[in-house]
Amino acid sequence: MKLFEMKHIKKSFGSLEVLKDISLEVEEGEVLSIIGPSGSGKSTLLRCATGLETPDSGEIIKQGDVGLVFQNFNLFPHFSVLKNITDAPIKVQKRKKDEVYAQARKLLKQMGLSDRENAYPFQLSGGQQQRVSIARALCMNPKILFFDEPTSALDPELTGEILKVIRDLAAEHITMVIVTHEMTFARDISDHIIFMDKGLIAVEGTPQEVFASDHVRMKEFLGKFH
Ligand code: ADP
Ligand code: MG
Repeated sequence: MKLFEMKHIKKSFGSLEVLKDISLEVEEGEVLSIIGPSGSGKSTLLRCATGLETPDSGEIIKQGDVGLVFQNFNLFPHFSVLKNITDAPIKVQKRKKDEVYAQARKLLKQMGLSDRENAYPFQLSGGQQQRVSIARALCMNPKILFFDEPTSALDPELTGEILKVIRDLAAEHITMVIVTHEMTFARDISDHIIFMDKGLIAVEGTPQEVFASDHVRMKEFLGKFH
């Protein structure tokens, strides 16, 4: 079943055409990774997909809520871990407190953070903060979880713990769209990969197809990781 679709999405900032004509589909249970050079429009694509930006033209079709995990965690600094996770489900989704707290605690357990529910973001490592932000996104019961470079603000030794969390979510068949510079990870975890270049989808396909592509800009981009 198709959970998400973008049709001919265009987005400019002033005279800068950031998304030129983006069409893509996400099937239930699939992992789609988006790779590409800095400035190619990946974050703008995710921001349009999750409603943080409005496209200039084109169509977005989604089933249910979507969640977004940011590069810089974006936790509320003055809220405890538990309140960061439970605030929107209670206030925005108007769900019952007991049910939301129970789900939040289950998610914290899954993230290995059961003992930190009363901590504040500044008391946590970057990896722990990112795990809280993943729990926060999941507590909204999104149909799809979007990640914008979830490990790029982390020290290399903390990257692995976040990639493991995302691998575990993939094993649970959570539908995900992941912008990442972790090429080995993208290759292992993805059903499909999109290579973006200058606001367009330049290459797309299975990991095997994409990594074997002889698209010049794509090879140049991958060369930076060797
Ligand atoms: P990526 O995530 O692939 O690095 P972005 O989507 O962040 O790319 O940015 C693509 C281009 O759009 C960049 O040149 C960036 O400076 C520009 N851009 C992004 N957001 C805005 C904005 N709100 N206003 C003006 N320019 C923006
Ligand atoms: Mg970006």
